[in-house]
Amino acid sequence: MLRAGVDLGGTKIQVAIVDENDQILGTDRRPTPTTGTPDGVTDAIASSVKAAITAAGVDLAKVVGVGVGGPGQINVEAGTLSNAGNLPGWMITYPIVAELSKRLGGVPVFLGNDVQVGVNAEVALGAGREYDSLIGVFCGTGVGGGIVIDDELWIGRGAAGEIGHIQIMAKGGAPCGCGRFGCMEAYAGRAAMEEQARKWARKGRRTDLFKIMKKKEKPRLASGVWAKALKKNDKMAHKLIDRAVWALGSGIGSAVNLVDPEAIIIGGGLGIRLGQPFVDSIREAMIPHLIKPDTPPAVLLAELGDLGGALGAALLVKGIKVTDPALRTGAAAKKAATESAKKTAAKKTAAKKAAAKKAPATKAAAKKAPAKKAAAGTSAATKAPAKKTATKAPAKAAAAKKAPTPRSSAAKKAPAKKAPAKKASASKAAATKVTTSKAAAKKSS
Ligand SMILES: [Zn+2]
Repeated sequence: MLRAGVDLGGTKIQVAIVDENDQILGTDRRPTPTTGTPDGVTDAIASSVKAAITAAGVDLAKVVGVGVGGPGQINVEAGTLSNAGNLPGWMITYPIVAELSKRLGGVPVFLGNDVQVGVNAEVALGAGREYDSLIGVFCGTGVGGGIVIDDELWIGRGAAGEIGHIQIMAKGGAPCGCGRFGCMEAYAGRAAMEEQARKWARKGRRTDLFKIMKKKEKPRLASGVWAKALKKNDKMAHKLIDRAVWALGSGIGSAVNLVDPEAIIIGGGLGIRLGQPFVDSIREAMIPHLIKPDTPPAVLLAELGDLGGALGAALLVKGIKVTDPALRTGAAAKKAATESAKKTAAKKTAAKKAAAKKAPATKAAAKKAPAKKAAAGTSAATKAPAKKTATKAPAKAAAAKKAPTPRSSAAKKAPAKKAPAKKASASKAAATKVTTSKAAAKKSS
């Protein structure tokens, strides 16, 4: 049973073909058309999916579904993507599900919000799998976010997580794509940073940013261009990245004061490209904004890299989507979300009660262990989960006690590539989670 995941961004289309264990069999990546129509973009997506299938050495007939994480407003029931300002000609409502399915021989297509699927992927398979609460901050063309509370993506009435539009400059702020001023995205989104760089360049300020862009044959200041410019010590690039870090520190700090999550995960094209040093700088910039600076959350780099969005989109097909109730509209969504929250709460209380009976040191392990154990038992691919779980568990215990100081060691930990077995166990855990939300959704419909 193979699935395809499509990460549809303003800059690139990334496709991954995965098997039932979320192992990647083939990928394709190409620039998103910068001109044209949604039809043209959908053609490009279809070509990319076909290329990834070829790269995987499989047949389209083996693919049971295609998940798409798209930027803009998603209507899952209608299968439409609307107001995707970073895509050409997409300020309309476009039936992407039907159109893409038509281009791929009728294979079912599932739709999700790009940032939400990225966060889901990190929660199920990546840096977030050890945490119950976190905020994902994805720095790409814009700055998107996702809030996870009690292992569930919090979507509010459908639009939660717009961390990029936290206003960090009340007066004289930079113009944001949303039409307002002083939003975090106006400083830390790649589109806004490029606009500022062009403005400065027009005024005669020196930079190699555009030279590097041309040399790399990119139509825009892609993340790799910024990384290269920083490496070459380009003054303007440093200034703009410093500004972005300052904005992110301020905005994320405000979000932490509100939500008090265990972890912050920094992802997105820019976040991943600039990597750990960028994450460390953001953490440093965040601390002064915290009401409780002595207990900051762990600030982590997204682990799944450039493929996180595509992996998350592929999860949509599996039914592993914390967003499930979220993406519905109106009363059904609210009801589903409430039901799901209730179930989670009940589950947690039961888990806590069970854990209370054990020795305090193993509390955290007890909480997460069942899913992991089950996974270990089922798969021959199990190699080192026991060791890894053991080393990760203390951090989790610390988290449970809300004593984040030791977390910084976890935060600093290099985002190692995951062993396959770990992934399997993570997805199993996610699968368990989803049952709850799915059941809730069913109940409410
Ligand atoms: Zn804004």
